[in-house]
Amino acid sequence: MSTEPLPQSPWQAAAITGIEKRTPRVTSFWFEPSRPFVHRAGQHVDIRLTAPDGYQARRSYSIASAPEAKPGIELAIERLDDGEVSPFFHDVAAVGDEIELRGPLGGHFVWEESDGGPILLVGGGSGVVPLMAMARQRTSRGSAVPMTLLYSSRIWDEVIFRDELIDLDERRDGFELVLTLTREPARRPSDYSRRVDAAMVMQALARSPEAPTLAFVCGSNAFVSAAAQALIDAGVPAGLIRTERYGV
Ligand SMILES: Cc1cc2nc3c(=O)[nH]c(=O)nc-3n(C[C@H](O)[C@H](O)[C@H](O)COP(=O)(O)OP(=O)(O)OC[C@H]3O[C@@H](n4cnc5c(N)ncnc54)[C@H](O)[C@@H]3O)c2cc1C
Repeated sequence: MSTEPLPQSPWQAAAITGIEKRTPRVTSFWFEPSRPFVHRAGQHVDIRLTAPDGYQARRSYSIASAPEAKPGIELAIERLDDGEVSPFFHDVAAVGDEIELRGPLGGHFVWEESDGGPILLVGGGSGVVPLMAMARQRTSRGSAVPMTLLYSSRIWDEVIFRDELIDLDERRDGFELVLTLTREPARRPSDYSRRVDAAMVMQALARSPEAPTLAFVCGSNAFVSAAAQALIDAGVPAGLIRTERYGV
């Protein structure tokens, strides 16, 4: 298995090896690329679907699995009812099917343990996916870097990776989970029930021993703009904030 990103990231076939529903709207798909690669936490792949008439649709999906996780890679795809590609995965794709993908892609929205810490992760909805890869990598490497995940979801049942995140939080090993639900009351005493704002970011930051050395913000365009502004208002220097926008 190569440990380097594929040169020019050519398209390759990848078989679907597993499917698991995460929430009512999000399902995880495991892919086994025909030429396996090792990614960095935060990277994504491009998926290409080709219809019988030759029409092609391409979309990007973050890798949810830690680089060490084997076999294959996990993508967590949210169903947009009026979308083109995500309903295909939810309604049509089956274990054993082959699709085309290329990657790993992206070199900016990537966490390495050598970046130091504390690390602040801020995700909205499916924007938690690349942050999950970072949290999983921290755990699988036994890293002591303090990491706080502030994760905004509409309701409790839409919190992707909920049980795994709560397990990580309960380890009390320097990983802190702060959930905020925008359309339901908070379920845990230390969580919130409103949109991400500067006061919430300041309280989340207070859980770490020092100011963050890096912050990663991921989600829809609107979420990333609002959350990045909340970080700046909370005193996080703009130069420390890395963003990944999923569009729309
Ligand atoms: C780096 C990156 C990583 C990503 N990672 C993930 C991930 O981990 N999980 C995930 O679920 N998604 C992820 N996304 C988003 C993903 O790439 C797709 O955008 C998403 O799945 C929607 O694709 P779709 O084909 O289903 O919908 P699309 O057909 O692209 O439609 C998306 C929305 O746009 C609207 N729309 C489409 N065309 C128009 C138009 N002409 N005018 C106005 N509105 C329009 C549709 O109604 C729909 O609501 C990521 C995006 C990026 C850039």
